[in-house]
Order: sequence, then C-alpha cells, then structure tokens
Amino acid sequence: MSADCIFCKIIKGDIPSSKIYEDDEVIAFNDIHPIAPVHFLIVPKLHTASLAHCDETHQDLLGKLLLLAPKLAKQQGLNGFRTMINTGREGGQEVFHLHVHVFGGGSTLPKT
Ligand code: AMP
Ligand code: ZN
Repeated sequence: MSADCIFCKIIKGDIPSSKIYEDDEVIAFNDIHPIAPVHFLIVPKLHTASLAHCDETHQDLLGKLLLLAPKLAKQQGLNGFRTMINTGREGGQEVFHLHVHVFGGGSTLPKT
C-alpha cells in the first residue's frame, strides 16, 4: 500500500469506485473518465508503480491480470476488446499504480 496512491485508496475502500470484480489479489472497476462505451481497469492489489517496476516475482500476477481481461470483457458484454498498459510519464501513465485498461463496445478508438 502507498498512502497517497489513489488506486490503493480505492482498494482499501477509502474512495468509492464502480467495481466490477474483486478477489484477494486483484480489483477491477470502471474508469472514471471512460473513452469507450466500456472502459474498465484491472488493478493488482499489490502497489507496484508501473510495468517497468515489475520483475520475475510479478510474473504470475501479470499473467492473472491479462487472463482476467477476456473474462471480464465477456461479462461486460464485449465480443472484442482492446487492452492498454501505459508505462511511465512518456508512456502516458498518470496513475502510478500498475493497471491494465480494457476498452470496447464502440468504434471510437483509433485503428492503431
Ligand atoms: P493512466 O493514464 O494509464 O495512468 O490511466 C489512469 C486512469 O485512471 C485514467 O483513465 C483515469 O480516468 C483513471 N482514474 C483516475 N482516477 C480514477 C478513479 N478515482 N476511479 C476510476 N478511474 C480513475
Ligand atoms: Zn497504489
């Protein structure tokens, strides 16, 4: 846990979220500023600043995050989806607690 981390506060329940999944290691909730009809975040409970801060000890957890994406996407009614992990300021990361974006439900996203 990191005291001033917004996602740690959500995990602790100090800040409300629109939660779609939770287990002992992971939480998933809807993004507060969605850029697609469905846009949620898959977040490990272990505070890790970014993908660049991960090592071999995070291997199982990283696999778990990715394997949850299709399961949760299906539960959200998506037939296809896009994942994104922003890493570092230059990579567009704003919240420095590792998370996987999952987008879907529309064609508003660029084709890259
Ligand atoms: P990133 O740029 O990858 O760090 O993305 C951070 C994401 O967290 C952005 O899409 C924000 O809209 C989202 N976000 C920030 N605060 C909250 C919050 N309290 N609840 C849900 N999503 C949030
Ligand atoms: Zn955190």
